[in-house]
Amino acid sequence: DLTINKIAAGEVVERPSSVVKELIENCIDAKSRKIIIEIVDGGKKSIRITDNGIGIFSSEVEKSFLRHATSKIKKIDDLYDLYSLGFRGEALASISSVSKLEMITKTKEEPIGTRVMVEGGKIVLKEPVGCINGTTIIIRDIFYNTPVRQKFLKSTHAETINISDLINKLAIGNPAVQFKYINNNKNMLNTPGDDKLLSVVRSIYGKDITENLIEVNYECNKFSLYGYIGNNNVYRSNKNLQHIYINNRFVKSKIILDAINESYKSIIPINKHAVCFLNMDIKPSAIDVNIHPTKLEVKFEDEQEIYIELRDFLRRKLLSSSLI
Ligand code: ADP
Ligand code: MG
Repeated sequence: DLTINKIAAGEVVERPSSVVKELIENCIDAKSRKIIIEIVDGGKKSIRITDNGIGIFSSEVEKSFLRHATSKIKKIDDLYDLYSLGFRGEALASISSVSKLEMITKTKEEPIGTRVMVEGGKIVLKEPVGCINGTTIIIRDIFYNTPVRQKFLKSTHAETINISDLINKLAIGNPAVQFKYINNNKNMLNTPGDDKLLSVVRSIYGKDITENLIEVNYECNKFSLYGYIGNNNVYRSNKNLQHIYINNRFVKSKIILDAINESYKSIIPINKHAVCFLNMDIKPSAIDVNIHPTKLEVKFEDEQEIYIELRDFLRRKLLSSSLI
């Protein structure tokens, strides 16, 4: 079983940033309002994530490391109505099988918390501990027991960039959550958690970027859309300024990007890439997020219709905007 977890880990845990992604998504699923991420050496030495969410009951702690034991799907119908970020019950099992993991967690219902240590998938310690409500997970020595994978880790610099990009994306997608990110003792990001998308964008990119953005707020019978778009000529041609979310989950969606770029191009021919911070809310049954374990790619049931609706709306929006 430990071997199966180690193999499965190849799917979920590619690099330190994938660990950070899974752990932060768990914090969000646990209704945290504040998440602190501390990494050392690009996450290769350690990753520590602290949240103020619901915590895990002492009696449930072991279960959280079991493969496919998720607390988030109670019945098969839940699979078709997927709003929580995690649902496979794979992350903790996988991560703990290829690292040394420490977890400290406490629910508000229990007077005392629990501390566990897991090494290579085996629980080596479980004890009661005094702590505040919420969960802290520390990952040390990722891939210590899979030397080949360890060898393929990139430089500290490259891994750090991956993690920083990821945290930016997660922060943008969750403006109501305060994200504090510390890299080698250096403060990298601190979002206010005031539920304002622009506040997060400012925290990450500085005040200037928000000056040329157009607010977008649209609803039709297929989806609703909220966020900001901008013309990248004002900034640099930088693909990092394209952030697309579906139901608050960041995704790669060629359809949505094409629609934005198309609508811009039809109005300002010189534009290369549009800037966007956009969230689309759509009913989960109209999309398939389950086509890859990292859940980045999304397929729409009705691609062409979504594309046309979006492109035409954005074109109207741009034409009526004072910035054009
Ligand atoms: P999944 O998220 O797919 O359910 P995971 O392996 O990521 O699977 O997590 C397993 C379980 O551990 C979750 O279902 C949840 O019950 C619990 N859990 C993990 N992280 C946290 C956290 N930060 N706060 C509360 N519960 C957590
Ligand atoms: Mg999860």
